[in-house]
Amino acid sequence: MKKSTSVNDDCEFAAVAGWIDKYLSGDLKYPVLAQVAPGDIRAQLPSSAPEQGEPFDALMADFERTVLPGITHWNSPRFFAYFATSAAPVAVAAEALAAALDVKAMLWRTSPAATELEEVVMEWLGKLLGVEQFTGIIYDTASIGGFTALAAARESLGLHIRERGMTARDLPALRVYVTEHTHSHIPKACIALGIGLENVVVVESDDRFAMRPGDLQKHIDRDIAAGMRPMCVVATAGTTSTTSCDPIAPIAQVTRARNIWLHVDAAYAGVAAIMPEYRWILEGVEHADSLVVNPHKWLFVPMDCSVLYVRDPEQLRRTFSLIPEYLRSQEERVRNYMDYGLQLGRRFRALKLWFVLRYFGAEGLRERLRGHIALAQEFASWVRADPDWEVMAPHPLSVVCLRYNPVHTHGLSSEDWLELTNAQVMESVNRTGEVFLSHTKIGGRFVLRMAIGNLRTTRADVACAWEILRSHARRRGMKAYGGG
Ligand code: PLP
Repeated sequence: MKKSTSVNDDCEFAAVAGWIDKYLSGDLKYPVLAQVAPGDIRAQLPSSAPEQGEPFDALMADFERTVLPGITHWNSPRFFAYFATSAAPVAVAAEALAAALDVKAMLWRTSPAATELEEVVMEWLGKLLGVEQFTGIIYDTASIGGFTALAAARESLGLHIRERGMTARDLPALRVYVTEHTHSHIPKACIALGIGLENVVVVESDDRFAMRPGDLQKHIDRDIAAGMRPMCVVATAGTTSTTSCDPIAPIAQVTRARNIWLHVDAAYAGVAAIMPEYRWILEGVEHADSLVVNPHKWLFVPMDCSVLYVRDPEQLRRTFSLIPEYLRSQEERVRNYMDYGLQLGRRFRALKLWFVLRYFGAEGLRERLRGHIALAQEFASWVRADPDWEVMAPHPLSVVCLRYNPVHTHGLSSEDWLELTNAQVMESVNRTGEVFLSHTKIGGRFVLRMAIGNLRTTRADVACAWEILRSHARRRGMKAYGGG
């Protein structure tokens, strides 16, 4: 083994590149869900960092021996949990380049290309999504993009919270409107922004799990009459559990008439708007104030890359810009991205998105998304055709909610039994390591989610998941009912 003497003398990039290449082409087989117990990985690691440097090949060996068994393979074509995602090889290459450059994209001069490339890819993506009138900024996650949007919404109220804070002064309750299907990062943002969870108003949803604009209007008018101050309405295009879509256009009518900030969370489903036949997903977004779309969810860009589009970037700047002398810009008429959020140092995330947009082209991306949607629709047709299973929600995109509810127990099976059985089926399926699915609850009912979104997922992978689900469910059902 070589001993490291300088910064990079034995860092074997070619070996790493070879490993990545094999991994991404599926030549290395691992269980999709890590098959370790809590503490297994930790138990193999020393309790302190080494005093002396170790050779690179020892690190690589431990990566394979100790770390990989504890990895859940998000990039596997048989990962069907949460929202299935993909790190396209071309984007992994871009990540490696960005890491090598180690740019902090905060001021224009700290890397003009990082800033200007970000501006350009935001315009490209904006045109593809049909939101070219908005200005895009890349953040790490939708959670941070959503928080940033809500902070701007709070500042737009003209209550001077940026300068005077929220304590020791007389302020009305600030209200934020969501549904029970809204992602949890919005209430979390309300915790962080001093809004308080009690001021997060849950508006009723319809039987397709979408917000009812009439009820929204009633809540808002009641709050105004009670002296409260509506701050923001959050509409979701593609909710986390079922991918249901709130009707943005009628919601926007309510918010515009009352001058309330409208934030659209389209973290997963927003990218579907690059397909003309799915533009409806963002219909009405032109009346929103902000929109989040995650290329790291369903646009084949590796974690992390989330885009916040805003109608008025100046509002964001007014909310966040604070410039100490050492960061004062020497150039005029340039964008300094540090002014648009909490972060100072920012990763060069535009590079991987640029690589993806160029490598696949808009048509290539549309083709892949259509492929995923078609697979999900076919999967749903198999579920529907099996009397022992039920589809539990509309499935306009690439996620299907389902549960096992065998015919021989229909009428006998309580919700408790169904929950227990479906949870056991999910666990035993996931323990095979062949596929990985996750669950949610809809209207109090435990359901499994089949999410399709990996570039390498084929019909055979989806069929394999269905076969494993059915065989494990049959076994559970028979056990519980004595073979009935
Ligand atoms: N919004 C929706 C609709 C989501 O489904 C998710 C995560 O699944 C998020 C926001 C949070 O995304 P992130 O992990 O980028 O913060």
